[in-house]
Order: sequence, then structure tokens, then C-alpha cells
Amino acid sequence: MRAMQLDEVGAPLRPVERPLPRPGPGELLIAIAACAVCRTDLHVVDGDLHGPLPIIPGHEIVGRVVEVGEGENPFAVGQRVGVPWLGRACGRCRYCREGMENLCDAPLFTGFSRDGGFATHTVADARFCFAIPDVFEDVEAAPLLCAGLIGYRAYRMAGDAHRIGLYGFGAAAHLLAQVALWEGKEVHAFTRPGDASAQAFARSLGCQWAGTSGEAPPAELDAAIIFAPVGALVPEALRRVRKGGRVVCAGIHMSDIPAFPYADLWGERSILSVANLTRADGTAFFDIAARIPIRTTTTAFPLSEANEVLELVRRGQINGAAVLIPENPSLRSS
Ligand SMILES: [Zn+2]
Ligand SMILES: [Zn+2]
Repeated sequence: MRAMQLDEVGAPLRPVERPLPRPGPGELLIAIAACAVCRTDLHVVDGDLHGPLPIIPGHEIVGRVVEVGEGENPFAVGQRVGVPWLGRACGRCRYCREGMENLCDAPLFTGFSRDGGFATHTVADARFCFAIPDVFEDVEAAPLLCAGLIGYRAYRMAGDAHRIGLYGFGAAAHLLAQVALWEGKEVHAFTRPGDASAQAFARSLGCQWAGTSGEAPPAELDAAIIFAPVGALVPEALRRVRKGGRVVCAGIHMSDIPAFPYADLWGERSILSVANLTRADGTAFFDIAARIPIRTTTTAFPLSEANEVLELVRRGQINGAAVLIPENPSLRSS
């Protein structure tokens, strides 16, 4: 198999060839058709998150099963599957037992603590993979596996808010805006200063308002979801939500949150974070995503350009989501 591997934090990913891995009991060997690039991959490469090295990043994988490990398995050879960030949860800790496997004490995360999808092949625990609805092509489906379903978890954490602000209009926001609009909500998109193209993109999807993150929206928000990794947006968003409103932090890493007056939190406003996903989130999200159906905006690149793509994600220069295509020889016949 071929892969782009992280050997050392801060170093560029290195193209490598490795022997094809074999699936263990309950696992799948998957030939990868597409893997989307997430800001979390950037946090792994930059060392904002510390995991074992070397590692193959990538946790928004769509591919086809080429080999099934021993034991019970919900998938068969040839079937299309998606592999998300939560690669495995222990099933035994108090969080797993209480239906909060997203908070598992001993998880494995795809592309972080087990090898991920910047590759031609990967091995995944079948119990944590998803069947992908037929309405989505491989490339369209890839961003749904993190931007979509962790974004959806964040969206549900916003409660029954009607007027929602999305801070950072990238891969996740462009998907969640479609869910919110489909459910009859009002969506206000906040972008980096001067990012006219992201603002135009947001309006083209039907967002009622788009502006810069320092700007006041035309009306008070019921909730805000912060997708950008910028801590200063927390007090900013807090000042834009009504009494009782929520500010949901959807990213895995954020710069420090600056101090702010207690008066901005007063009035039963709350700040919360979203961590990872449960399999139930994934099932619920794919169901609604197929019914809408969500349209993902993607730009595809060859796997070998992973380093260049990470740089574009860092600079916010991708409308929608970037997707790596490994040009897998074992998928050519299918
Ligand atoms: Zn657990
Ligand atoms: Zn992600």
C-alpha cells in the first residue's frame, strides 16, 4: 500500500510504501476511494494534539471492503463503508456503558491513534464503520464522516435554537447550514475578515446573512456554533447570543479563550464543547443527510499532494471540503 505518513511533528508528510495490513478479528481491510481533509489533521501534523508516531492521518474515509477479519462482521467484501474519527471505544468504561462512547476513557481515533486514510488502504474496526447512503458519490460522502457528523452533534447541542450563528464557514459549516435551513432555521455565517468568497458561498447556500466575525448580526442569535479554532470567538459569540443562549465549541483544539466580563455570561447563557461522536450520531446524521440530500462542495486532489492541501486548509483557502484521492489500483475494476 501507499500512504502519506507523519514521522515527526511539524515535518511534511512523507510518501511511503508499506506491506498491505491484514484485518484482525472484527476488522475490515478497506481499499480507499476518497479521504477528506479536516482541520484536526492539521492539529495532528502541527502537534497541537499529541499521539503516537509515525501515523497516517485522515479520518473521513470512504472505501470498499476487500477483506473481512474473522468473527462476526456487519460488512461483506465489496461493500462501501465510511470510517470516522472514532475508530474504537472500549465498551467497558463508565462513559461507554452510559451511552457516551464519544467520551470513552480508552478510545482509538482514526488517523491519530491508529492509522487513517491518507493512503490506498486502511484497516478499521467494522463495528465503528458506517454504510454510506447510495445518493452520495465517494468524494461527496467523505466530508460527511467528520465535518458532517461531528458538526451534526454540535448542531444538536445547540438545542432548539431558531436563529443560529456559524463561526468559521468551512467544511463543517457548509454542511450544517444545509441541515439547519432544511429544518426551517435561520442561519447567520461569520467568516474571517475580508473573506468575501466564503460569505458569498454561505449566501449561495441560503444563509440569511453572512459577514465578518467581529460584526454584529442583524438580530440576536439563539445559539452560536464555533468551528474556527480561535478562542477569541467564544466571548465574541457570547455577546451575540440572547439570554439563555448557547455557544457551542465544535473543534478539538482552540487557542486560549481570553478573559471576559461575567455580565456577558450572565442571563443563563452557556458555553459548551463537543467531543468526538457516537455511532448513534453517525446513524442519525446519515439518515437526515440522505433525506435532504446534503450537497457537499468538494475539491479533489491526488493523495501525493496531501502536504499542499494541508497548507490550503491552514490558510482557509478551500471552499467546502478538500478530498484526497489515492487512485487506488484495486478499485479500478469496480
Ligand atoms: Zn470506553
Ligand atoms: Zn475531523
